[in-house]
Amino acid sequence: MHKLLVLCLFMFVWFGCSSAQYVQQSYYIESNKLISVYIDSNFSEEEAKEIEMSMILWNNALNKQMLLFIASKNFIISTHNINEAEENNSFIILKINSVIANDKKDIDSSILAYTNRVGGNIVYIIRDRMAEEDIHYIMLHEFGHLLGATHVKKGLMYKYYSPASYSCIDYDTAKQVANYEKLNINNMKYCK
Ligand SMILES: [Zn+2]
Repeated sequence: MHKLLVLCLFMFVWFGCSSAQYVQQSYYIESNKLISVYIDSNFSEEEAKEIEMSMILWNNALNKQMLLFIASKNFIISTHNINEAEENNSFIILKINSVIANDKKDIDSSILAYTNRVGGNIVYIIRDRMAEEDIHYIMLHEFGHLLGATHVKKGLMYKYYSPASYSCIDYDTAKQVANYEKLNINNMKYCK
């Protein structure tokens, strides 16, 4: 009898835990808003961590309505890989320098980072124009562009960088992203 009770308890704990895990996993898959993020292999581990930090803040703001996750930190730049990522609606974060940026006619010397378009899928970080600790603030802004936000007159989507105004995902940014991605703003977590 005692053995049977232990077995029942064991079965309950076992199935209880595994079904809870299943519910959590299927929730994310069903959300249909998973976005793979590919990080250029040229970023150092510390630089990749800065990018990851801003991704975590975005996931917190999106509050499970969308989920960004790192698919690889070893992305190799090639036309094929970039096209493939675009077809899969993945985001790519590329590391470039001023020499490369100066060759692009739309990119002036004051620009620190840019995306291929609002609602696009590629961020170019001009690495020699910022300190390592600036990367996550700047990426917070650039993820905003990828998720559909345009420049506004203050806060995270202001076009001029400062750590103070780029420190969190504000209402104006969350609202723009909610509109663009068709999310519920009331379920988003933004800073006041
Ligand atoms: Zn911008």
